[in-house]
Amino acid sequence: MAFEFFDTALKDKQEAGYLRRRHIVEYEKDGVICVNGEHYLNFASNDYLGMRQHPGVLQSWVEGLAQFGGGSGASPLVTGYTQAHSALEGYLEENLQREAVLLFNSGFAANQAICQALFSNGGNAVADKYMHASFIDGVLASNASFKRFRHNDTAHLQTLLDSSEGDTLVASEGVFSMDGDSAPVDVLVKQCADKGAWLMLDDAHGFGVLGENGFGTAELYQLSQQDVPVLMGTFGKAVGTAGAFVAGSQAFIDYLVNTARHYIYSTAMPASQAIATLYSLTVIAGGEERGRLAENISHFRTVAAKQGLTLTESQSAIQPVICGDPHKALALSDALKQRGIWVPAIRYPTVPKGSDRLRITLSASHSTKDIDVLVDALMLAMESV
Ligand code: PMP
Repeated sequence: MAFEFFDTALKDKQEAGYLRRRHIVEYEKDGVICVNGEHYLNFASNDYLGMRQHPGVLQSWVEGLAQFGGGSGASPLVTGYTQAHSALEGYLEENLQREAVLLFNSGFAANQAICQALFSNGGNAVADKYMHASFIDGVLASNASFKRFRHNDTAHLQTLLDSSEGDTLVASEGVFSMDGDSAPVDVLVKQCADKGAWLMLDDAHGFGVLGENGFGTAELYQLSQQDVPVLMGTFGKAVGTAGAFVAGSQAFIDYLVNTARHYIYSTAMPASQAIATLYSLTVIAGGEERGRLAENISHFRTVAAKQGLTLTESQSAIQPVICGDPHKALALSDALKQRGIWVPAIRYPTVPKGSDRLRITLSASHSTKDIDVLVDALMLAMESV
């Protein structure tokens, strides 16, 4: 029998508490998901602003379908690139104050493409230890020499920078996906400027939420193209649709258009999706949903602290509760499920060994009562596990 190692690998994962399983969501409405006929308050989604169900976003998507059909029908360099894609790119260029923007089908593809392009001739990648898997894999598949600095440790970064020569990219995240904390961007900008290195920010979790108009970490800290020559964001989280963008200099984007295999050889995102994404961004700029999310984050942290729950420093929608052990994280997640609440257990290798956790994600669509129910259930679950 070929490939027998699958069975052993899965058994090993099961025993260590690291086996992953999927759940079929039967439907979802108003922040409640139905799985196996049971209903749960959903504290697991990256839909931080509730834009996935926004009537205007859905309507614009339908209108886009009527105008351009279902799929885009081709890769972007053939006939898959429409005026809807171009309009979304233009909107991002203007608001992020970048020379050029390129759309990708996913953040995963965008990060891979960035690495492939930047490290075509070797070079150095210096990344925060908590950088997303899509970036790590992109670097590992490239010709770069790869170093990682301890999470948000700018002194460690400096040591690595001091010993690197040639084209260097420093990579970090606007808001970290599993911890919800932010990179010390001002310091990173300065360190990169001093070294003549490029800074890349993956703003998957900041884009749509941070900044005066929701354009993310770059808007919040007014980071110019020179400060952050490679800016990446995704639409599948706060924006409520799917896909991603890379923003930077015209030459960098032109290089991607000419060399990025994830772009050239992949069917373009549907035009209707680009239309809905642009519409969602205009709603987000209004600020109403971001205001509600900020209130919910503050309410959660206040109520949880009052009840004695140990929180991290995260001020974002991502609020981890560290358990330190995969079995405990799973048991807590199950205990919450029994109380009608869905919070995922995040385990190694997604997070470092020993930092297995519950990853609570808050949304503008939660009510304060939903959050009170979550905290009460969490306290009870912790007593029973
Ligand atoms: N970067 C980060 C920081 C992410 O959290 C994610 C999604 N988990 C991605 C990139 C990949 O984005 P996408 O889901 O659009 O592929």
